[in-house]
Amino acid sequence: VSAADWPSHDNPEWQRVLDKARGLGWPAPAWSKSHPSINLKCPTGACAFLIFKTGGKNTDRVAIQTYRKLDRCTHGDLTSSVAKVDVALNTADRLVSGAEVLISRGEAQARVEAALADIDEAVGEAAEALEAEFDQAGAALTDLDDRASELLGSDHQQREPATVAAEADPHLRAAKIDLAVLPKRADVVIDRQTRLAELRVRRDAISSHRA
Ligand SMILES: [Zn+2]
Repeated sequence: VSAADWPSHDNPEWQRVLDKARGLGWPAPAWSKSHPSINLKCPTGACAFLIFKTGGKNTDRVAIQTYRKLDRCTHGDLTSSVAKVDVALNTADRLVSGAEVLISRGEAQARVEAALADIDEAVGEAAEALEAEFDQAGAALTDLDDRASELLGSDHQQREPATVAAEADPHLRAAKIDLAVLPKRADVVIDRQTRLAELRVRRDAISSHRA
């Protein structure tokens, strides 16, 4: 039912009555601008009200009473009113559902971000420990490179420990032979015997070591 087919009333209370009747599915009353009254009827005609376009001093009160009486009519066709309500409810449902999804989405996004932050933190902690180990190992390597260069020359990285140790053997033997003819109780000789013994222990340890 189009509102354009319906009369309008200068009095707001009577306008409410007309709007309500329209909402109840009552047919638009026959009316003309020149006619002083509107004959408002429900679809069966069982409920009928005569509305004057210009009312007396009690017209508000009469309009309010009429408005209440409209509620007693059970003859109207509510289809279009209910359909209108359905449209509003469907729209509201869509928006509420959308809001709920947005909340869930926000929660899911927060979970993703928290997981990413946890990963970053865990990676950061692990990387920190590994970097410390890397730094320490790197510093040790640099020191040992320097020391190896001092002892063996700059090509030391191509040498095998067992081979290098084996090269010491003739020198250890020579020292032993030379010491054998020196006075055993002389302090300077005892020092060298001790040193020879210590070197042989260290050299034997290298034989069992696989680089
Ligand atoms: Zn009725």
